[in-house]
Amino acid sequence: MKRDMSSISRRRFVASAGATLMAGVAAAAEGQGPALPSGPAGRPDPSLGSPDPLPLDRQLGFAVVGLGKLALGEIMDAFTAARRAKVTALVSGNRDKAMRVAARYGVPQTGIYDYENFDRIVDNPAVDVVYIVLPNALHRQFAERAFRAGKHVLCEKPMATNVADCEAMIAASRAAGRKLMVAYRSQFEPHNLLAMRTLRRGDLGAVRVITADIGRGTDPRDPADQWRLNRALAGSGSLFDIGIYALNAARFLVNEEPVEVRAQLYAPPNDPRFREVEDVVVWTMRFPGGALFHGSTSYSYSFTNSIQVTCDRGVMVFDPSMEYHAHRLRIRDRVIQMSEIDQFAREMDHFCMAITDNLPVVADGAEGMQDVKLMLAILEAGRTGRAVATDWGYRRSADPATSVPDNLGVA
Ligand code: NDP
Repeated sequence: MKRDMSSISRRRFVASAGATLMAGVAAAAEGQGPALPSGPAGRPDPSLGSPDPLPLDRQLGFAVVGLGKLALGEIMDAFTAARRAKVTALVSGNRDKAMRVAARYGVPQTGIYDYENFDRIVDNPAVDVVYIVLPNALHRQFAERAFRAGKHVLCEKPMATNVADCEAMIAASRAAGRKLMVAYRSQFEPHNLLAMRTLRRGDLGAVRVITADIGRGTDPRDPADQWRLNRALAGSGSLFDIGIYALNAARFLVNEEPVEVRAQLYAPPNDPRFREVEDVVVWTMRFPGGALFHGSTSYSYSFTNSIQVTCDRGVMVFDPSMEYHAHRLRIRDRVIQMSEIDQFAREMDHFCMAITDNLPVVADGAEGMQDVKLMLAILEAGRTGRAVATDWGYRRSADPATSVPDNLGVA
């Protein structure tokens, strides 16, 4: 999650991934545990689990909306790894930038839009999917406009900043008869899938406690951090931006929904970054089967990105847990580092297959809304100092452990 991580370069990440990969393979230890991935040195072929490539004229066309750090640092390149998705349009408030990006990625000038003329995309048959990569509070507006234009929508996390916006996006999707997916890339990532499948099989016994800490520093001089420190655009602080990864992971690891949350919030009083949004959120969640979660997220920590799952018969540790390119998972004493796949490409391919084959998506609108509701409950618990009940009956429609193709090279 490139320090959602936007503050270090893709190149540095790849370099560090290579170094830790070798260290991880060397450290792979004996011990009880799930089957290691197949392939040389226990590493799978990164192409495993990807769908067969389609000829370009049969791939679905994507319009990328918002050419910021994530779009330019990860998503545009992911189209080269994708097998069912291609980029055919760009939407930006900065035409010069859009022209440069279009030239680099072969997007025709007729596929360049700005935020005012975006609705003309209805007349562009080369666009099947609108991928929204804008500040959080703008997701609803562009999702509704995309659905009105008859397009499918892939929306970055968090889905929105409030429940009304989530409900409106789901209603617009239904009214248009088009699919909506929230971009939880970790649900396509091999280490995360291996962890889910290991826990589902009961190899480590019951999950007892999950501990997670996800944080980074923010820099008010960085435009990508400016909107993140602005409540109207971001919704809230670190929880909505990066704490959401720990929340979502706890839910997909335990495979249940929390029934109660408690929290404490803290913002340093004299730090101008935290005039509008919280800094540290420390929260707990109770799951109906007895598992407990405690974790923290912050916008002023040193970079941290770890999750530990303590079970009856073993411990699983992700550190880092949700990077773009350098995951590391330890199950008991066994360090597992699989070849990295492009999570964004896998996610886009999954969405394309769901559209063309009319299958359910892994993270639909209801799934995105569940995280928004839980995050709002956590903030309420922090503000009031009281436990908040969260057992409102949500059940996820698709478990990534079984819905994402099985042949990722993981057990
Ligand atoms: P950036 O600030 O880098 O990019 C957002 C872009 O949105 C801007 O560059 C700009 O593009 C456009 N924009 C339109 N209106 C505004 C506005 N009022 N203020 C600021 N930007 C505006 O943010 P990120 O790329 O880091 O994040 C975008 C979204 O992606 C967020 O929802 C975030 O949560 C999510 N994200 C997801 C990650 C993941 O791993 N799944 C990782 C990082 C972010 P232009 O100049 O082209 O108009």
